[in-house]
Amino acid sequence: MPHLGDKVRYDAVLGMGSRITRRDFLNSTLLAAGSVLAGPKAPRDLLAQASLWAEDDWTGYGGVGDYRRSNGNTAEVVNSAHKIRDHVFDKYPAEATDTGEVFDCVVVGGGISGLAAALFFTRESGAKLSCLVLENHAIFGGEAKRNDFIVDGQRLMAPQGSDHFQIPYPYSFIARFYELIGVRIREFKYQTWAGTEPEIPLGRTFEQMPAPEGVYFGARFGQRPGLWLVDPWEKNLERIPIPAAMRAEMLAYLERSSRASVPFDYPGDEKSRYLDSITLEQHLMEAYGLSRETIRTLMMGEGGGFGAGPDVLSGYCAYAFDALHSLDDSPETGWQAFPGGNCGIARHIVKTLIPESIAGSKTLEAVCRNRVNFAALDRPGQPARIRLGATAVRVEHDADPARSSGVRVTYTQGDKVYHLKARSVVMAGGGWTAQLVVRDLPARHRDAYAEFHRMPCMLANVAVRNWRFVYKLGFASASWYEGLGSFTSVRKVPVFSTDAKTIGPDSPTVLTFKILYLYPGLSLHEQGSRGRTELLSTSFRDYERRIREQLTEMFARSGFDARRDIAGVILNRWGHAYLSPQPGFFFGKDGKPATREILRGAPFGRISFANTDLSGAMDHKTAVLEAHRAVRQLLDQVLA
Ligand SMILES: Cc1cc2nc3c(=O)[nH]c(=O)nc-3n(C[C@H](O)[C@H](O)[C@H](O)COP(=O)(O)OP(=O)(O)OC[C@H]3O[C@@H](n4cnc5c(N)ncnc54)[C@H](O)[C@@H]3O)c2cc1C
Repeated sequence: MPHLGDKVRYDAVLGMGSRITRRDFLNSTLLAAGSVLAGPKAPRDLLAQASLWAEDDWTGYGGVGDYRRSNGNTAEVVNSAHKIRDHVFDKYPAEATDTGEVFDCVVVGGGISGLAAALFFTRESGAKLSCLVLENHAIFGGEAKRNDFIVDGQRLMAPQGSDHFQIPYPYSFIARFYELIGVRIREFKYQTWAGTEPEIPLGRTFEQMPAPEGVYFGARFGQRPGLWLVDPWEKNLERIPIPAAMRAEMLAYLERSSRASVPFDYPGDEKSRYLDSITLEQHLMEAYGLSRETIRTLMMGEGGGFGAGPDVLSGYCAYAFDALHSLDDSPETGWQAFPGGNCGIARHIVKTLIPESIAGSKTLEAVCRNRVNFAALDRPGQPARIRLGATAVRVEHDADPARSSGVRVTYTQGDKVYHLKARSVVMAGGGWTAQLVVRDLPARHRDAYAEFHRMPCMLANVAVRNWRFVYKLGFASASWYEGLGSFTSVRKVPVFSTDAKTIGPDSPTVLTFKILYLYPGLSLHEQGSRGRTELLSTSFRDYERRIREQLTEMFARSGFDARRDIAGVILNRWGHAYLSPQPGFFFGKDGKPATREILRGAPFGRISFANTDLSGAMDHKTAVLEAHRAVRQLLDQVLA
């Protein structure tokens, strides 16, 4: 065990004391006490403890610009939302102030789904009906937000969650939606290569990972020091330090999967229902002869788009995104991204909904780079309004849902509680809150929501002054199997977003790490709780140290110096990031339909349900499609 002096010296090497773009941590005594207590405590206690910490100890630095107070779920947001879970509002709060407002529609949740719902509602009612969005974060966007850094005078942006989009079919619903909000894909031109050194291909998103890809094998594979291999999967797995039997399995898998086609005729047929009755792990074992050990050693990322591992996901997850039908869904040619991910889509929806919300005209450049005019979001008299920092804690019909004339919506903002009246409501915040907030929700709906498991995830954005330490190894995309995260890559950003029209190894950039919480062998529910416990109980400083250690271990030998190269760290913690569909989620069990159809099929009284989680394939397109269905249900069946 290292002595305290060693630890201090080690921290200095990692640059823990460097002046980077994060605030200092004042409450370290309390934090240290919290860390000691963290082990045996239940998640609820841990959260209470987290709320005791000075906000910076947990939320950390938030960057600059519009998103500086809203990196992931901040301590403020978590504390407000968990009052719902902790039954604080089970009894009607006598202190609630009536705002006196009546809206034709209140949308709970200002992510892409809630914002799209407000846009559809306003447009399809000819702006004659009023709409209010209640969003609990300090800015709209939900998982589609961004972090902004200034590094050596250059503004850098990176996604907090929802990242890339695809080129849609011309004239499709989504293509027309992009057109409506002003997302013109043909105007996406990306940075070009700077300088005279040989070019290494860069992706347009951190998830694209173009070849050549560096793959790191460390202590878990008996490698001390660790070993970088470039494109080992393309080279018959040569030199990968795994047992011969595992290599043979992986080679057979790579060969067979390159020839494989979708193993069913249409979603819902017998073959797809079978896939949905087994886990993804079982499917990989049955279809490709892989062993459980190989899957759990090398293929845990297979469920990454669903926030969980193959051991607990439905086998249908392997194909669920195929149903979304883009014109070009290939990562190499089709994936596109704003510099801050799908935050660009959220900003364009808001600009269309409330033209004064972002200064300037509705061009890609202005909507990306100009500041949000927060004062314009919630002005009386405009057809659509967005109220931020507002957590809906109770939503209930004012009489028997079948006959009621309205819904009472109660929300907190800061320390205050308010209520207002809505003629209809779209619950777009996600199943994890909707099932608690709608107080008169029937048991059938509650049971349906009980089938929704949401897993935590953290996106860490690390601004670096240059990425020469990656370039020197001969790649710009890297993956690994141990420690924090599992991949990252240097990307080029659209030129409308930056003054730096070129990028090279000495350019500053942001390395994004997606951190999942996987505990193979435990149930999905247990994995979610354990992951949230870790997410809630780990201080900013501890995560920062682990990030510095990870980068130092992998890149120190190619010139990385944490003290010199790291310019800023932002953590985006999402307690309920991903809907992780378990077997039976998509098509139901025992001959019974999937219970999520109860939530999508019809409104409950004056309340309909949106959010991407209802689709089972979390994506901005499904967020928009679920919003459109929910709004049409209200306009056709409730308000008609
Ligand atoms: C790490 C990660 C990466 C992803 N990458 C991609 C990608 O590359 N491409 C893609 O298309 N999709 C991606 N997604 C999927 C993403 O979920 C969708 O694209 C989309 O952003 C979801 O929008 P939404 O409105 O349905 O949900 P959310 O974004 O979750 O929005 C719901 C909002 O409602 C708020 N809310 C909840 N309850 C309440 C309440 N009671 N009162 C007030 N507000 C409330 C929430 O806090 C949140 O802000 C990713 C998701 C994650 C987690």
